[in-house]
Amino acid sequence: MKLHDENFMREALLEAKKAFAIGEVPVGAVLVLDEKILAHAHNLVEKNRDASAHAELLCLQEGAKVLGNWRLQNTTLYCTLEPCAMCAGAMALFRIKRLVYGAPDLRHGANGSVFDVLSRFHPIHQVEVESGVCEGEAKELMQTFFRERREENAGKAF
Ligand SMILES: [Zn+2]
Repeated sequence: MKLHDENFMREALLEAKKAFAIGEVPVGAVLVLDEKILAHAHNLVEKNRDASAHAELLCLQEGAKVLGNWRLQNTTLYCTLEPCAMCAGAMALFRIKRLVYGAPDLRHGANGSVFDVLSRFHPIHQVEVESGVCEGEAKELMQTFFRERREENAGKAF
């Protein structure tokens, strides 16, 4: 773990909480270059009616806009949850340097939980990966979200 990893993950957690507050699955991300936040985003799948509107992908797109370059060299992406295959693939395409995430995603995770997109040696670009930063908080946020949803749905049945 590097010096500011936890601080930046806290920013990603704040994004996840924004998603939670509007009924989105609570996943947040921030993109960092030279210890500064370039972009931040949270899940907008429901709002945008777009299954690909994941925090990580939105954050990468925003970062490319800010930099005026799709090559996000030397950046670190912090996200609260293990990325899915789409987002992990996008991280390699956008050429980020490093991915730091919080909790594993047992349903869609693509860093070993379900798929394993980033661990294979890639001849052009390899993303460094670190997991488990603020894992407890990220996990708790997800669990609370899905528990509340289940309770709501159970209430509707009566
Ligand atoms: Zn994703």
